[in-house]
Amino acid sequence: MSYLAKNYNRKKISFKYGKGSYLYSSDNKRYLDFVQGIAVNSLGHAHPKLVKTINIQSKKLWHVSNAFMIPEGEKLAKKLCQKTFANYVIFQNSGTEATEAAIKVARRYFYSVGKPKKNRILCIKNSFHGRTLAAINASGSKKMMEGFGPKISGFDHFVFGDHKSLKKNITKNTAAIMVETIMGEGGIKIIPDWCLRGLRKLCNKKKILLILDEVQCGISRTGDFFAFEKSKVKPDIVPIAKGIGGGFPLGAVLMNKKVAKGMIPGTHGSTFGGNPLAMAVGNTVMDIVTNKKFLNNINDLSKYFFTELIIIKDKYPELIKDIRGRGFLIGIQLYKHQNIFIKELMNKKLLTIRASENVIRILPPLNVKRSELSQALKIIDSVCKKLN
Ligand SMILES: *Cc1c(COP(=O)(O)O)cnc(C)c1O
Repeated sequence: MSYLAKNYNRKKISFKYGKGSYLYSSDNKRYLDFVQGIAVNSLGHAHPKLVKTINIQSKKLWHVSNAFMIPEGEKLAKKLCQKTFANYVIFQNSGTEATEAAIKVARRYFYSVGKPKKNRILCIKNSFHGRTLAAINASGSKKMMEGFGPKISGFDHFVFGDHKSLKKNITKNTAAIMVETIMGEGGIKIIPDWCLRGLRKLCNKKKILLILDEVQCGISRTGDFFAFEKSKVKPDIVPIAKGIGGGFPLGAVLMNKKVAKGMIPGTHGSTFGGNPLAMAVGNTVMDIVTNKKFLNNINDLSKYFFTELIIIKDKYPELIKDIRGRGFLIGIQLYKHQNIFIKELMNKKLLTIRASENVIRILPPLNVKRSELSQALKIIDSVCKKLN
């Protein structure tokens, strides 16, 4: 029997080790891992540079309190700010902490300028911002909130893609609009660049802050460091996590100078957040995933993968409804049979993961090889053939 609580519906498989795009199971089988811990292992398993970084740093210093200066964190924060819209960073350990911190930064800003009532956060109904109490209330998902009442006030919701619903739900007390640039758990739904620009304009007009949750879609996953980059929009606050740690728990909230003013000493903290071990790993990931050649390679290979996926979709129009996403954040939307499809892929040694709306999420490591992508395409095609 297992002493782990039953909150997960786990597949009956475990792994001994991983290397690059592959996982090796306890029963000695090799799987092509296109889950990668849900977009966490941005450089695949056991990347030599990350192994080296951990080795070196683990012999020097793991953890000190944020009561002291942490040079490794100064370095990573500088890299993040020089690469993006941000002027300041607070480090956390996970995505949900990062989104919570984003909410705190937004509220504290309006508090600090004498508008404490401007504290409501407007989110997309059935979005995903994590599993803490505030985050499930932000997500507005009945399923995630069920049994975890009382409902936490201070969150409003609008319907994805419904501009009327968005405008209707803005009040004089709205502090921020928080959305995922690309909804991950929600089914790889992209907010188009022109909508992001419209959202920014609307926020400016109503004096509302814009929070773009890039926990899943950020850190070069889409072929740009942030998924919103091509839109040229500058958000006020951006929570990140997943990919930045390359498998080591690491989150952060990035913010501009204006909103950072509210975060005076004592307003927020984290015991583990930003410790030297996490920062060392983050620095190494950052150096690799922001390299121009690395990004170009993601874009080239992703183009190839999408082109081939669309060919498969055209072959099986009654099975596949949509192919969507950007870079290596990829969704195959089926008409039905989502779980059977995932199981069949797994039987053929390709690991993928579900998302809402019958979507199968495909999240290769960002340094995946072309041959591994073509291997996955062959498997996907053969499963389509079988289930068609
Ligand atoms: C995964 C995710 C989170 C939560 O991250 P955790 O590390 O699981 O707490 C928040 N927002 C988005 C968009 C995510 O995909």
